[in-house]
Parts: sequence; structure tokens; C-alpha cells
Amino acid sequence: MGLLRAVHSEPYLRAKASEFGRFTGIASFLTAFFVATTWFWDYVVDPLNATDTIALRIAATLVTLVAAALLYRDVRSLGARVALLLAPLCVDGILIEVLSRLEQGPEYGMGTFLYFFIFMPFTCLAQSLRFNVLALTAIALFPTLLHALGFAAHLNMPVYHMYIWMLYGPIVMLVGLFDVLYWRIYCYASQLEQIANTDELTQLPNRRHFLEASQRLLRLAQRDGQSASLLFIDIDHFKALNDLHGHVTGDSVLKEVAGLLVPMIRSTDVIARYGGEEFVVYLHNADETQGAKIAEGIRQRVSAQTSNGLSVTVSIGVAANDNGYGREESIHALIHQADLALYAAKRQGRNRVVAHEARGRISGALGT
Ligand code: GH3
Ligand code: MG
Ligand code: MG
Repeated sequence: MGLLRAVHSEPYLRAKASEFGRFTGIASFLTAFFVATTWFWDYVVDPLNATDTIALRIAATLVTLVAAALLYRDVRSLGARVALLLAPLCVDGILIEVLSRLEQGPEYGMGTFLYFFIFMPFTCLAQSLRFNVLALTAIALFPTLLHALGFAAHLNMPVYHMYIWMLYGPIVMLVGLFDVLYWRIYCYASQLEQIANTDELTQLPNRRHFLEASQRLLRLAQRDGQSASLLFIDIDHFKALNDLHGHVTGDSVLKEVAGLLVPMIRSTDVIARYGGEEFVVYLHNADETQGAKIAEGIRQRVSAQTSNGLSVTVSIGVAANDNGYGREESIHALIHQADLALYAAKRQGRNRVVAHEARGRISGALGT
């Protein structure tokens, strides 16, 4: 039951669609090609009347091509899903008409219903399991409905049922199996991504994740004419702390500082452990003044905290992409500027915030 819910969760469906969308588009074009070739079957069964079915087979091919084109364009669009459901029904309807035009068509033709049915797991690969089962059921039942309405009187329904339901079970099992397998791959991939993006000691995002996420946000800020600022935070005299109290204590100080930083930023910001005792924060939609204010809050918060009788201080460099509308600045440039400001903060005596533009001290415990 849990798995059934999991394979219908939005992130999973999105991942599945992006992984298999293109494949199902191509599979649908191939299906259209195979639908076209079914005319040769007509010719083998009844060469004389096969000319009467050419237009019908072309119509079935065109319907499949339209569905393929919609699927290829956007596999999750409503149009693509409707087409995926309606195209097989149209092809089935056309096939019923084809069989009626051929001598002994209904006797020989039941197998062709299965032919199109078998393509469904491929063309529906990027859709949800619920959709797939619904589509397969609808296709299996459609000729029965037409027969009940009197449109397929020439079909031998017991034979049709025997064929179609014999295949229905295995095909539904196949699409189910596919979701079980892809769910496993999806879970492994998510775990790997989590590991690849997280710093093991502090459990903060790491540099790799930071660069990716903040670059994306910076581009948005530049597009929308919003400002963005970056804080480069470095623990002061950390080497001495390690030398005096040992690396285990150093590690727990790092974890503690990381824990202090997280609640001080908004969910739209990005924080990371950049390296050894260095942290970076990308502040979305915050200019240099706001960035410096948040940095000062962090500086004060860290210096006020003591653990095991130890207190540490941080120096922070601030850089901003103020009114950066149209400025094609990369996140690396912003990091570099914040790093220069941090260097200035260290030179000026540590435990202070320095902004890149001013490159003079904005705040600090010493002498303020
Ligand atoms: P400054 O005030 O100029 O920043 O001096 P600092 O001592 O903090 O800077 P420095 O670059 O000289 O030393 C950084 C130290 O951080 C050295 C390194 O041993 C320590 N460090 C880096 N990563 C870790 C870690 O994961 N755990 C611990 N315990 N220490 C680390
Ligand atoms: Mg450092
Ligand atoms: Mg340091």
C-alpha cells in the first residue's frame, strides 16, 4: 500500500517522466510505424479486398502519429494523456471496421487486437501506474462496449475475451513490475544525491550543492532585477582551538556553529559548509545592507554562545549583487568578493563583519 502511494507521489512521477518521456515519444512513433505495417496482414488474409482497408489503416496510423507528437512534446501534458487513452480506442474501432471488410477477417483478425495492446507498456512507460492500468482496462473493454452497442456484431466475442484477458494479466503485471524496479532505482538515486550534496560532519549542504543552488538563484535574481548577497563566514583562530583542545572538540564546535547558523537564515536562502572552518550563505533578495545586518546577527549570536567553557568568534565578509539587473555575474565572482572582504576582516582584527564595497569595517566587537 505504501509503495502504491509512493509510486504516485509527485516527485517520483516527475522523475519518471523526465527519465522516460523521450523514450515513450520515440516508442509511440515506432508504434505508428508498426500500425501502418498491419495493412500487409490485410493483404495476406484477403488480397482482393485489402485495397478497401488502405484508407482505414492510414487513418489508424495518423491517429497514432498525433498521439506520438503530443507525447514527444510534453509527456505529462493533459493532451498527451488524453491522446494516449483515445488513440488505442480509435485504432481498435478502426480495426473492427477493417475486419468487417475482409473475407474471413473476424476469423483471422483477433490477434491484431493484441498487437496494439502490447505496445501500451512502452508508450505509457512515463505515466503513472494508475493511468496505465486504467488505459489497459479501457482498451481491453472497448470492443466489448462497441459489440454491446451493435457496432461489432461480426466479432466473435468469446474468442476476443479469451485472447485479450489472457494477455491483460501479464501486461498489467509487467507495468507493475516496472514501477517496483524504477522505484528502487529512484530511491538509490535520491540517497546518492543526498550523500553527494551533504557535508558529513555538520549535515549542512556542501560546496557542490551550494554552487549549484546559489548559481540558479543568482540567475533568477539577475533576471528579475533583485539583489542577492553572499556571506563568507570563517571561524577565528580555529587552528589554535584544535591544537589546544583536540580535533574532536574542534569537530563539535563546527557542528555547533552550523546548528546556530541554520535557524538564522530563511528557507529561500542557501547555506553550506564551504571548507574546513568556513561557511557560506547565499541570501536571496537581500542587498548589501540587509546582508551585513544578517551577518552581524550571526557574528553576535556565535560569540555569545559558549560550549564546554569554550567560546569562538567568526569573521564575515559580505558581497552583494545590488540591483544586479542585467549584470551577468557568476556566483564565483560573488564568492571571491566576499572572500576578499573576509580577508580584510581578518586583517582588521577578526570577530567583525566587513562588506566588499566598503571594504571597511561595518561592525565588530573590538573597538565598537
Ligand atoms: P584565522 O582566524 O585566520 O581564520 O585562523 P584559523 O586558525 O582559523 O585558520 P587556519 O586556516 O590557519 O586553520 C584552519 C584550521 O581548521 C586548520 C584545520 O586543522 C582546521 N580544520 C579544518 N577542517 C576541520 C575539521 O573538519 N575538523 C576540525 N576539528 N578541524 C578542522
Ligand atoms: Mg579558513
Ligand atoms: Mg579560520
